[in-house]
Amino acid sequence: MSTGRLTIDLDAVAANWRALDAKSDPGVQTAAVVKADAYGLGVGKVGRALAAAGARRFFVAVAEEGAALREALGPGPEICVFSGHMSGDTDMMHDLGLVPMLNSVEQITRHFEALPGHPFGVQLDTGMNRLGMEPGEWAALRDLVVSQGPRLVMSHLACADEPDHEMNRQQLNVFLSMTDGIEAPRSLAATGGILLGPDYHFDLTRPGIGLYGGLPFEEAQPVVHLDLPVIQIRDLAAGESVGYGNSWVAERPARVATVSGGYADGLTRHLSNQAVLFFEDTPCPLLGRVSMDLIGVDITHLKDKPKALSMIGPHQSPDDLAEIAGTIGYEILTQLGARYARYYARGRA
Ligand SMILES: *Cc1c(COP(=O)(O)O)cnc(C)c1O
Repeated sequence: MSTGRLTIDLDAVAANWRALDAKSDPGVQTAAVVKADAYGLGVGKVGRALAAAGARRFFVAVAEEGAALREALGPGPEICVFSGHMSGDTDMMHDLGLVPMLNSVEQITRHFEALPGHPFGVQLDTGMNRLGMEPGEWAALRDLVVSQGPRLVMSHLACADEPDHEMNRQQLNVFLSMTDGIEAPRSLAATGGILLGPDYHFDLTRPGIGLYGGLPFEEAQPVVHLDLPVIQIRDLAAGESVGYGNSWVAERPARVATVSGGYADGLTRHLSNQAVLFFEDTPCPLLGRVSMDLIGVDITHLKDKPKALSMIGPHQSPDDLAEIAGTIGYEILTQLGARYARYYARGRA
């Protein structure tokens, strides 16, 4: 087999959910955010593992993702949709029992007209200016909306991965004043917010990235392992080059492995000449440019001829790759390609 092998440790996902759940009081519910196909890891398998671990409420970005999740989970767990109730969503919301987080006057009107009595939540904008109702809008509608018994009133923090950022406290204060005195359950914290402490937990937390082993949850167990098979090994003389654009030239004789995997598999070209792969514990520098399907790797210093090299694993996390590529772990995970052979492990074999 010549495709990369992506192993997703479902026990680690479950352990991360439990560890984040343990960071808030027992009275605080811990949900699970599984948007974007569970951050690229597969919403069916991941969703079922989280439900088995105890998650009872799930969040997705759009109704279509809710449909895929409902298929995997069956009836029971509550599935909430961040983008709210868009035109065209009504039948899906109704038939699959999805709960829209209503973001605007337009969505509230649509929802109350199209599905009276159907559960809903509300998203408030406390300063991120992305989704949710503005304080002025909310003040005008609050009594009416609250009288309909929202399942949740939520907002989202813009800077929760920077604990000292003044925006955190500012958004907390806006959220407190917008929700003062209401009975509906409230939620403000994603992974970063959980780590900011109990002031941010309210009734429900919504971790995503921490479940998948990513920062800012430093204690997370690693979830993803990516091993790339070696397709060919060749010996180079000094002065020979590797890959497109001759961007790496051997200064001395070198041995180069060509592995299967490239930017079409989510291994961004920004890793060119920067990243390392691992053979067991030994780092092996990536040579030259990342191609669409292939990567050159320096194995001059290895005694053995490796059959595969590790791109993501115990020695290198998605956040490490993100750091090299100038992005965030979220983007590395969600870009993991469709070509990999995926294995879902219970514990790392
Ligand atoms: C993505 C998202 C989350 C989860 O955030 P993480 O940083 O991955 O924990 C929670 N709430 C909202 C509104 C989101 O968009």
